[in-house]
Amino acid sequence: MLKPGDTIGILGGGQLARMMALAAAPFGLKCHIFAPEGDNPAFDVSAARTVAGYEDAEALKSFAASVSVVTYEFENVPSTTADILSAHVPVLPAPRALAITQDRFTEKSFIRELGLTVPNFIAVSSLEELEAALMTIGRPSVLKTRRLGYDGKGQAMIREDVSARDAWDAIGHAPAILEAFVPFEREVSVVAARSLAGECVAYDVCENRHKHHILDKTLLPAAVSPRTEAHAKAAAQKIAEALGYVGVFAVEFFVAGSGDQEVLLVNEIAPRVHNSGHWTLGGAETSQFEQHIRAVSGWPLGSVKRLGRIEMENLIGDDVARWADLLAEPGLIIELYGKREARPGRKMGHITRVIR
Ligand code: AMP
Repeated sequence: MLKPGDTIGILGGGQLARMMALAAAPFGLKCHIFAPEGDNPAFDVSAARTVAGYEDAEALKSFAASVSVVTYEFENVPSTTADILSAHVPVLPAPRALAITQDRFTEKSFIRELGLTVPNFIAVSSLEELEAALMTIGRPSVLKTRRLGYDGKGQAMIREDVSARDAWDAIGHAPAILEAFVPFEREVSVVAARSLAGECVAYDVCENRHKHHILDKTLLPAAVSPRTEAHAKAAAQKIAEALGYVGVFAVEFFVAGSGDQEVLLVNEIAPRVHNSGHWTLGGAETSQFEQHIRAVSGWPLGSVKRLGRIEMENLIGDDVARWADLLAEPGLIIELYGKREARPGRKMGHITRVIR
């Protein structure tokens, strides 16, 4: 169990690490950020930094020696990095969660084995296998690389007019899964946490709207039935227990059908704090960032009570230029990430309205 004055190591220096470090500060905890060269907004708010590559074994060892626990802000931490670190210091969430969620095939197989529903999928590693899989899954379907896909990258929709070859070329011939297209009504997520002692809590279900494959808005309460709300939270708990997970994570779902026919399909698990949980910063009694810090410190979790109706909006690229106008809105919660350059598609900050 950590105590005030101890140091948490965080892999990654982006906005998620920054908001974790800010959440650690009121407890007297310090953060040491490990990140490669680049614009690392977490550096501005942390006690220590190491600038090195994730493959740099020497740098990883001295980083491990300087902290009480290591956590991370992204799921693509190389497994060798996690192995080197965990030989010296606890890594939470445990590297097994990374290994399972880094590969869409392993991840979806794991979820299905828990008895949860996922869109039908088949692993494909050649054009011939893709053609065969299309005979089973049909069209429309979605071809997704097994690794390193996010925000719609590494994906190709296969509609009636798209050939298997074009889709296979579009994803660069990487090992992939072919997944049935889900004609969903809405996309929702559950942000949840599990403590070292095994206590599990879940925030209310979030409804997520995307623009150009990037999260644009999160709204609560989600327009789903109480049964679906309970089902989503139970699914998150089941996943956390099966992984022996410690920390905050998100489960993204598709909601298909409506009324009595409403069904949930799991899309993916993010083993980290998540953009759809940013509203908890000011919109819930405990933010997801504080919750994560509590969990990896071996502490009891905080209350997940929601404080009102929620509208969270990401500030993407030039949206951040609105900052001065936004400051004038009474009660608006504004979080700017301090990034140097507002490139198109780049998450620069977010705002949350809590309507009480
Ligand atoms: P992912 O990277 O798997 O989260 O996918 C990014 C986005 O693509 C999702 O948020 C959906 O909007 C869309 N998408 C992914 N898979 C499917 C699917 N099987 N059916 C319909 N839409 C999908």
